[in-house]
Amino acid sequence: MEHYDCAVIGGGLTGLTTAFKLRSLGINAIVIEKQNRIGGQIETHYTKGYVYESGPNTGAISHPEVAELFQSISQYCQLEIANPSAKRRLILKQGVFHPLPNGIKGGIMTPLFTWRDKFRILGEPFRKKGSNPNETVGELTIRRLGKSFLDYAVDPFISGIYSGDPMKLVTKYALPKLYALEQTYGSFIKGGIAKAKEKKSDRDKMATKDVFSVEGGLSNLISSLAQIIGERHIILNAKDIVIHHEHEKWQIDFLYKDNTKSLTANHIVTTTAAYQLPKILPFVDKHLINPIANLPYASLMQVSVGLKENPNPAFKAFGGLIPSIEKENVLGILFPYQCFKNRSPKGKALFSIFIGGIKHPDLLLLKDDEVKEIAIDILQRTMGYDEKYPIEHFAIFRHDKAIPQYDENTKSRIECISKIEAAYPGLFIAGNLKDGIGMADRIKQGISIAIKIAQTTQKDKG
Ligand SMILES: Cc1cc2nc3c(=O)[nH]c(=O)nc-3n(C[C@H](O)[C@H](O)[C@H](O)COP(=O)(O)OP(=O)(O)OC[C@H]3O[C@@H](n4cnc5c(N)ncnc54)[C@H](O)[C@@H]3O)c2cc1C
Repeated sequence: MEHYDCAVIGGGLTGLTTAFKLRSLGINAIVIEKQNRIGGQIETHYTKGYVYESGPNTGAISHPEVAELFQSISQYCQLEIANPSAKRRLILKQGVFHPLPNGIKGGIMTPLFTWRDKFRILGEPFRKKGSNPNETVGELTIRRLGKSFLDYAVDPFISGIYSGDPMKLVTKYALPKLYALEQTYGSFIKGGIAKAKEKKSDRDKMATKDVFSVEGGLSNLISSLAQIIGERHIILNAKDIVIHHEHEKWQIDFLYKDNTKSLTANHIVTTTAAYQLPKILPFVDKHLINPIANLPYASLMQVSVGLKENPNPAFKAFGGLIPSIEKENVLGILFPYQCFKNRSPKGKALFSIFIGGIKHPDLLLLKDDEVKEIAIDILQRTMGYDEKYPIEHFAIFRHDKAIPQYDENTKSRIECISKIEAAYPGLFIAGNLKDGIGMADRIKQGISIAIKIAQTTQKDKG
């Protein structure tokens, strides 16, 4: 039976980053993926000169690990930082997109927030810090900033990242940096000022607010990692994976081309969605695995629209988000052709429209024609689109369980993961069920697990 230092279950960004780092540290790792392709939620599509994503569109270089990863694979693919115009984020209020302010003058002038909350923000540094570690993002925002900031900044921001409900997501887990800012400095404003003055190491400086993709689309990141890992170290179409733990060794059984295949490993890293785990890890007590498997997910639909002519060439921004209070069927629109090179043929426009989310799972059941109507309607009312700019590319991607929601049960879920990992040394339960859903978080988690495994492997080998 083939034996490996580590078997990584799942060939999405977390699994591939883990395997890439393991192999670069000399660890014999294999990736086992159930689908006939790698990438998981990441997939770039190419039609009539349009380059578009069905999963994530952009990430943030929010951890040094992201910059380091791209440096180390620069011979294979090129990191692409979004145009400076991508710094402009729009929020819809009463049918009109307004820029989200990023300075004092813009903050005073914006129609997005009430005058009461604008004045109230002057008192933010003096407000008591929160003491409830399970406080939701919505509760925290109302307490420190006011309801209009929740409605017209935080709610759309949470839709943009989690397709979620700010009244259900727990800040400590969903926005850990924001939670730490309040806990450490007592205030967002005081914390922001202190952070700006803080001396940073050269490595810390590698983490920026820059928004990234990859030249030619995110699938190029996936294929580059796969190329470096090596085709023979990635098994596709591995069905019904079951892991057994016997005599301190791991055995992985799966169906491959209608035959049962088995291999053994010293370490296992699972990177699948939470609800897959009871089947994959049948030896784990159900009192520990069920709370993990019950993690709720938001469903999400991404609609890609290519227009033969750009209806509004002067309009420059990353995209527009739509607050729930506006009662639209759309969560937001991205303008990939404005952020990155060659995403649409010259003079044409490409939009990604997001529909559904945790508050509207019903919208994923709409027929394609109905979805098209919603897409055209929002483009007409907000982007100056009219029938004289024909749609020449249209694609709908429905994601049933798209984004995990770090809700009030997150603490106990993470405790269960820790207990399982402590009971079964060598097993790592990873993926976006914890540590963040962003691509940057996935890269950071994969690198850190690989380093841990490499250290124990090297120790064991003496
Ligand atoms: C529509 C959408 C838009 C998003 N937008 C953004 C964005 O703009 N920016 C951002 O940073 N993030 C975004 N995200 C989140 C981000 O894409 C994910 O968090 C990240 O890609 C997850 O990577 P992963 O490897 O952890 O999981 P996945 O990509 O889900 O990979 C898990 C892999 O495991 C495989 N697998 C599952 N079960 C088994 C099994 N039993 N045996 C073997 N293999 C199995 C799956 O097939 C899959 O390939 C978005 C997600 C979606 C769905």
